[in-house]
Amino acid sequence: MNLPIYMDNASTTRTDPRVIEAMLPYFTEIYGNSASRNHAFGWAAEKGVELAREQAASLIGAGPKEIVWTSGATESNNLAIKGAAQMYAKAPMGETGRGHIVTCIIEHKAVLDPCKRLEREGFDVTWLDPGADGIVTAEMVAGALREDTILVSIMWANNEIGTINDIPGIGAVCRERGVVFHTDATQWVGKMPTDVEKDNVDLLSWSGHKIYGPGGVGALYVRRRRPRVRLQAQIDGGGHERGMRSGTLNVPGIVGFGAACAICSEEMETERERLLALRLKLENELKSRMDVVEVNGHADRRLPHLTNISFGFVEGESLMMGIKDIACSSGSACTSASLEPSYVLKGLGLGDELAHSSLRLSLGRWSTEEEVDFAIDAIHKAVEHLRALSPLYDLHNEGVDITKIEWQTH
Ligand code: PMP
Repeated sequence: MNLPIYMDNASTTRTDPRVIEAMLPYFTEIYGNSASRNHAFGWAAEKGVELAREQAASLIGAGPKEIVWTSGATESNNLAIKGAAQMYAKAPMGETGRGHIVTCIIEHKAVLDPCKRLEREGFDVTWLDPGADGIVTAEMVAGALREDTILVSIMWANNEIGTINDIPGIGAVCRERGVVFHTDATQWVGKMPTDVEKDNVDLLSWSGHKIYGPGGVGALYVRRRRPRVRLQAQIDGGGHERGMRSGTLNVPGIVGFGAACAICSEEMETERERLLALRLKLENELKSRMDVVEVNGHADRRLPHLTNISFGFVEGESLMMGIKDIACSSGSACTSASLEPSYVLKGLGLGDELAHSSLRLSLGRWSTEEEVDFAIDAIHKAVEHLRALSPLYDLHNEGVDITKIEWQTH
């Protein structure tokens, strides 16, 4: 086993060597511009791009003409949300009452920020609060819809806590009311079976670097039939991607994205079970060895490979320092010099302290049981060490309710 071990697959994944192999000829031999329609170099590149389109579409139950290539999930989300809002706006730019959008407070910033911009530009936004389990239900969405709702954007699975929303249910509600439904499925696609037809999804974003493909390439599914969804382009230029996203395509990246999708289609079923067993071992061992250990978010409705755990009575930064051999994420978002507690964990109702002393551990294709065992021991040791220095933990062990202590300040 090599140290440090990688348990941050929700941030990014190692590119699968099979993906690299598929990409390589497109740098050196098949280097044409896929939009060059008048020579063999262009045709060969286009063939690679179109195969990738089929591989990507097949992973989510879509047709190849419904895939738009982008630079990643951030761009896919921007195109879906701004593109749909502008296309279906009820009033022109600069006026209020342009239409209503529904999203959720624990979405990724790549959804929150486009929605905030639209709010400034005259759209109304309802920010659903999923509460302590982190799940957005169909009932919550149904309760938020209005006469003027034009778009709902709810993520399939949360990137920090791995909770899974009721996308089929939300899709059904939106379809019935004739509202366009977008889902940021960046953490879901490639890990879990996906069918945009069955689940009534109109727009779906995902990204290469989360599915063992290259970074800087993503896709947006745009429904073409029953109903046809139209988007206002966000990048204008040569009219590529049926006018929705101009710019010369990143052919090697797209070929890699397609190959990554094909491997996920093939291996997802067995990989899911393997990772679920490892994740359950990780959670169960940590909970059985120590007290005041909480898994954040809903207990069962969660991704197989991702967990987010809070350790009471330890200081967050010291915990991260104590487990340097494990590459993972903390409950602190590093913004410039200051450490902010994660807005997702705060959204679930966690206090700042507990949010800071949380770890997000995300397993992947190369995670082994040996690594999980190592992580359990290392985290256990670090938490025990920090608690041995904590007077608050002593008080807790003596049965004192810490939340009821009245501290004297001078
Ligand atoms: N949405 C979610 C849920 C994500 O986890 C991420 C990546 N952290 C993104 C969007 C952004 O993806 P990308 O890095 O491809 O822009």
